Amino acid sequence: MPMYFYPNSGGIVQLPSEPGGPLNALTDQYQKAYWRSPAAEFIASKRLGHIWLRGCSTREWFRLGYVAKPARGHAAYAGKLVIPYSRALPNGRDTVAFRFACVTPQCTHKGNAPVTGPPMKYPKLFNDDYYERSPVTVCFNEIDTMTAFMHGVPAIGIPTVEGWQDDFVPRLAASQLVRLVVPHNDAGAAAAVTDRIREAVPSAVVVDCPDGHDLNSAYCAGIAGALVDQCRV
Ligand SMILES: [Zn+2]
Repeated sequence: MPMYFYPNSGGIVQLPSEPGGPLNALTDQYQKAYWRSPAAEFIASKRLGHIWLRGCSTREWFRLGYVAKPARGHAAYAGKLVIPYSRALPNGRDTVAFRFACVTPQCTHKGNAPVTGPPMKYPKLFNDDYYERSPVTVCFNEIDTMTAFMHGVPAIGIPTVEGWQDDFVPRLAASQLVRLVVPHNDAGAAAAVTDRIREAVPSAVVVDCPDGHDLNSAYCAGIAGALVDQCRV
């Protein structure tokens, strides 16, 4: 297994896939099943279906897919949106992990998280090519991250509030100014994690979503403009 250097991770770490490895082939397979799938409808319902950044759609930027035929170990994720966690390589992108989002309209997820996945071998933030940027914007889930990013904000994502790990602190501390886009639709769960982050990352400032909203729902309601502008500065 090859060794890769991850800046600010504390040194050399081993990653579970290599260029052209099995997770990349699987990413391609899931991407091919995306067209006209419930996953595509879900992304459209988040108003991310017809938005382009530098000529690429949300689907293309994030290599989104759909689990039509689950691969081994993915049976639990059949019918979900595939969100690859990847990193940049000189010749493309390398998928290192997957997360899967429930796409059932109005689903309450029966106590399950809306986004799930196999445990990651290494703590990984979503879209984290940008974590050394300053200022950097940090969102609390993948959909909010995509929403900010597609509006030109260098945004990285915590894999939902439940996925927060203190191991992420050194990555966030690498930036001189960290903006935390804090959702207010989760009974205070994100706010509690925000307090922990702000204790560990002094450069973190809070950008509050409107009451009852996360960034994407505010965007869908047409009230996210000022919030997004604040993150662009
Ligand atoms: Zn669900």
